[in-house]
Formats: sequence, structure tokens, C-alpha cells
Amino acid sequence: MLKEIAVGMGLGTLIFLAIRGVDIWPLLLLAALGLLLFLGGFTSRIQWGSRSRATLGSRTTVSFQDIGGQDTAKNELIEALEFVLRPQDIERLGIRPLKGILLTGPPGTGKTLLAKAAANYTDSVFLSASGSEFVEMYAGVGAQRVRQLFHEARQAARREGLTSAIIFIDEIEVMAGRRGQHHSHLEYDQTLNQLLVEMDGMNTDDDVRILVMAATNRADLIDPALLRPGRFDRTVRVDLPDRAARKAILMLHTRNKPLDPAVDLDRIAQETFGFSGAHLESVCNEAAILAMREAASRIRQEHFKAAIDKVLLGERLNRHLNRDELYRVAVHESGHAVIGELVKPGSVSSITIAPRGMALGFVRQAPDDDRVLETVSELKADIAVALGGSAAERLLLGEQSTGAANDFEKAWEIARRMVTAGLSSLGVVQEEALSPEVLYKTIQEILRDSQELVDELLAEHREAVQLLAARLMESETLPGDEVRRLVA
Ligand code: ADP
Repeated sequence: MLKEIAVGMGLGTLIFLAIRGVDIWPLLLLAALGLLLFLGGFTSRIQWGSRSRATLGSRTTVSFQDIGGQDTAKNELIEALEFVLRPQDIERLGIRPLKGILLTGPPGTGKTLLAKAAANYTDSVFLSASGSEFVEMYAGVGAQRVRQLFHEARQAARREGLTSAIIFIDEIEVMAGRRGQHHSHLEYDQTLNQLLVEMDGMNTDDDVRILVMAATNRADLIDPALLRPGRFDRTVRVDLPDRAARKAILMLHTRNKPLDPAVDLDRIAQETFGFSGAHLESVCNEAAILAMREAASRIRQEHFKAAIDKVLLGERLNRHLNRDELYRVAVHESGHAVIGELVKPGSVSSITIAPRGMALGFVRQAPDDDRVLETVSELKADIAVALGGSAAERLLLGEQSTGAANDFEKAWEIARRMVTAGLSSLGVVQEEALSPEVLYKTIQEILRDSQELVDELLAEHREAVQLLAARLMESETLPGDEVRRLVA
């Protein structure tokens, strides 16, 4: 900013002097000299920027064993990394090489760790950068930095005698937001374009193969051009850890700490609902600090308890539910799951009350074989499952909550589809000729029937819902088999 003001003032003075008839040529010469010096320093700054030696590319020591939980993410990632490990096969079979993997999920869940472990697993050098490093006021600097990063990756791999490099870009949404939506859009667009150019230019027969891994917690902001085949081909979701994963993470971060034999990590995992891996690491660290302050030789359970409070109060977690709310979520999800098993036996594959993305809980249903057509009974079953959550809340807790708004939207949409597809009591209809009142009434009729059925079914299986909710409060995540056992 200061530079802009100085340049502006200098120019102003020159013009003023010129108007007054002063000879400004010597001054102009001086200014040109200054500009040259400034640009010289500037380009060297572009080249090395503010990067430390560590980010210039090196081997990593983190392995997948050092990451607790995240089994799905790890498996998906390892599967994708086969592409990097078997370049000959890829080429022989004519498979399009994998160029980019996008890791999405809340902060502190281990995305950076996964990228480092991937570098270790594939014997690649690791370079990291953050999306914000590429955002500069000067046009072209961001693009230049992207070029530089890829150049550095190749150099670093050669220096280490390796044939592959992983470039990790954190907060990619900052530089790869949808194009044309920023104020200084030109600069952003150039940077993103440069990234796409670099990725398009990567080949399997390069002497250094590069894999770009990017992380974001706002996948919705990413420019779709980045997700096209041949760019970020894979997206791996990295969620907040559930109870078992939290225990695994706690075990990892207490490996090197003296624990009192009475410390119950399982209990701590239970009490840290909604914590990310980074929060859990802080809990372990804070507990150790508290023990040190008391000059205790071992870390005790109460140190952990105090540490949890400290981490909780220190930074408000996105979503920390109190026990009553958590029980409501458990009851709600149990309602979905029990109805799911009753109307579509064998369909529930897992149920959880650990928050995923925007949802407080989730029932995963085994995907049907690609359904193109849906029958009336299938549609009715889907509506019943959607209404099961709020019905369970009514049954066990006496009243509903706002948590069901999404379910209702979904149920409404299915019912509307039924009406327009000629599957309602109206018979075949023409959508345009249908008055909104009639449409509304017919949808309500369908939903009311479904509601009645769901209420009846749940009342019959009240005990199963209750037991399932209680089991969820203990374990957070349960497999579908458990639901089936309770319903049976
Ligand atoms: P992200 O990149 O998703 O924001 P990081 O990978 O930078 O998160 O994690 C920050 C720190 O939190 C790590 O250095 C580690 O100490 C801890 N951590 C996060 N997730 C895990 C995990 N799954 N297992 C072990 N430690 C974790």
C-alpha cells in the first residue's frame, strides 16, 4: 500500500514540476533507476517468496499408522496412490494418470497428515503451500508462484534422487474459487488458470511425476473446472472422528507420555464428541502441561478432564451438542433406521450420531442397484424413512424439533414427484394444468397417510428405537446388523 502511495506522489510531483517548467529529465532518470532496483528485488522475492527451507521439498516421516481413525479416507487414498506406484502398468493399460486428489473436511481432521503420509508411502518428496500464498495484489505474481512451485517440486525430487513429488495445497478454495466471482477477479483467474495449465501439462513419462493434493473445507466454493477428469479426479472425504477413531487418536498422542494406569482413554473419547484430531492432540498436550504444573510424575484422568474443558472453552467447537440434544439426535436417527429396516429390510448399512458435514447424524442406506425407475411402493418407503426421525422424537420425547426440516423437504419432494408422475389419487395429471391448491392438498394427503403408517410402526417397535438410541449414545456409530438385530 505504501508503495502505491509513494509511486502516486512521485508521479504527481513530476507532473507538477513539468507544468511549472522545471527540467524533469534528471529526476525521470533517477526514478527509472529506482524502478529497476525495485523490480530486481521484487522478482527475487517472487522466486523465493516467504518459503522456508522445509516447504522447499523434502521427504516426510509421517506414515498412515500415525493417523488415527479415518479408515475410509486412508483406504480410498491408498487405493488412489496405486496409480503413482505403478506407472508402467498405467502406461501399458492406457489408463489416464491420476493428477490430483482433493481432500475435503473440517479443519484439524488430518488432511495435511494424510498428504504427508501419501508422500512417504509413495516415496515422493513433499512440498506444501497454502492457497492464500498465491493471492497477491500484483497481477501475475500468483501465477508465477504456481509455476515456481511445480519447478521446485521437480528440482527437489531430483535433488533427493526420487522420481515423484507430492504438492500439497491447503485452503485451495482461496485460489481456486469459482472464476469470475472475485473483486480482483483477473488475478485470481490467472492463478487458477496457471494451476490448470501445470496440471494439464503433467505426464507419466516426465522424469519426475507430480501428484497434487489439495485440501478444503468448502468444496462447494471450488471452481468446477478443477474437478474435471484429468485434474482433481478423486475426492476423499475426511470427517470428524467418531468415538472409536477418537480413542485411536488419543492413543497415538499419548504414546510418548507417562499415563497413570487408571487413565481411561475410552472414557475421554466418549466425552470429546465433536472434537477433531487437532483438538484431541491439544487435549493430550494440555493434560501433560497440567501434570507438569502439579509436578505429578504421571498424567491422571483429572488432568484430561481439565484439559478437555480448556480446549472446549478456549475455542468454541463448531458443533458441541449437550447431552439432551445428543440424545434427541440419537432418537431421531434411530427412528430413520428402524423404519428403514421395516420398510426395506436389509437396507441400513450404518448409523451414526457423529456430525458429518452439515448433518448432526446420519443413517447410511445401502445404495440400491442403480435405480432408474421407482415404483410406488419404493417411493412410499422412501417417504416413510424420511418421516421416521421426527416420528421417533414425538414418540419418545413428546415433541418434535427443528432437526427434521430437511427430512420434510425430502419427503415433500418425493410426494410431489409421485403426483406429477401420475402415481397419486389424482391419477394422470398434467403438471401445468394442476392448480397449486390441488397439488398441495394431494401431497399433504400422501404425507399424512405415510405419517400414520410410520407412527403405527414405531409404536409397535418402540422398544427397538429406545434400545438403539441408548446404544448409539454409547458407541456413536453402529453397523446395520445391530439395527437388524434390535428390530428382529
Ligand atoms: P488439517 O490439514 O485437516 O487441518 P492436520 O493434518 O494439519 O489437519 O492436523 C493437525 C494436527 O492434528 C496434526 O498435526 C495432528 O497432531 C492432529 N491430528 C489431526 N487428525 C489426526 C488423526 N487422524 N490422527 C492423529 N493426529 C491427528
